[in-house]
Amino acid sequence: PRGGDTLLYLDAVNKSFDGFRAINDLSLVVARGEMRAIIGPNGAGKTTMMDIVTGKTRPDSGAVYFRGDIDLTRHDEASIARLGIGRKFQKPTVFESHTVEDNLRLALSGERGVFRALLDPFAPAERARIDEVFALTRLGDHRARLAADLSHGQKQWLEIGMLLAQDPELLLVDEPVAGMTDAETEETARLLKEIARTRSVVVVEHDMHFVRMLDVKVTCLHEGHVLAEGPLDQVSADPRVVEVYLGR
Ligand code: ADP
Repeated sequence: PRGGDTLLYLDAVNKSFDGFRAINDLSLVVARGEMRAIIGPNGAGKTTMMDIVTGKTRPDSGAVYFRGDIDLTRHDEASIARLGIGRKFQKPTVFESHTVEDNLRLALSGERGVFRALLDPFAPAERARIDEVFALTRLGDHRARLAADLSHGQKQWLEIGMLLAQDPELLLVDEPVAGMTDAETEETARLLKEIARTRSVVVVEHDMHFVRMLDVKVTCLHEGHVLAEGPLDQVSADPRVVEVYLGR
């Protein structure tokens, strides 16, 4: 389904909870190497959509195609992660009592197990991957610090780095700048843009100031459906979008 530049394709997805349509005939296409911002009022279905893509929630009907013909609705969460989809939840979940570098090693450990990950000497490929993540996140100077001692922003970037260490093709990010200072917000925009040079990124975000910084195509969800899609200026001027944001 869809052309060669499509990475993710939600095809007429539906999901109800106790008879309530949280996702209503939702179709959405994300291209390879695209960053997309998803906006929409509370209850619009943004979280449920991410849950469906990552296999946390199974839709009632519809398909979610990844890389062409892989239907994610036929895979479980662990297998979807292995296929190359990483998800960053709003709250950072780093290993507080480990160093920044060890957090990345743990993220890389995979089936090897966490003990081996920290005890084994660095493999060259592991070293290279971690250095790449440091270059992107700019956390290299903090590599020996305990994660517990990082600022809120740095913890968020570390967790994004932990996902990058696993080399996902698609990164889903939930409200990354909640609780960040202006400087941290700007740095997060820089980081996500840099990531989107080689991967696809979907960002769910409430902060319109941040969405403006990202300068990407925006999808506004409402009642589990796409209400408007396009550049932020166009979407935010759409009378239907204005109504759902102001009319409640
Ligand atoms: P958003 O992330 O855009 O705020 P959600 O996806 O969290 O929206 O929720 C969409 C709708 O689905 C809301 O009305 C919410 O109450 C409902 N919903 C989400 N998850 C569940 C669930 N597990 N059980 C019942 N209702 C749910």
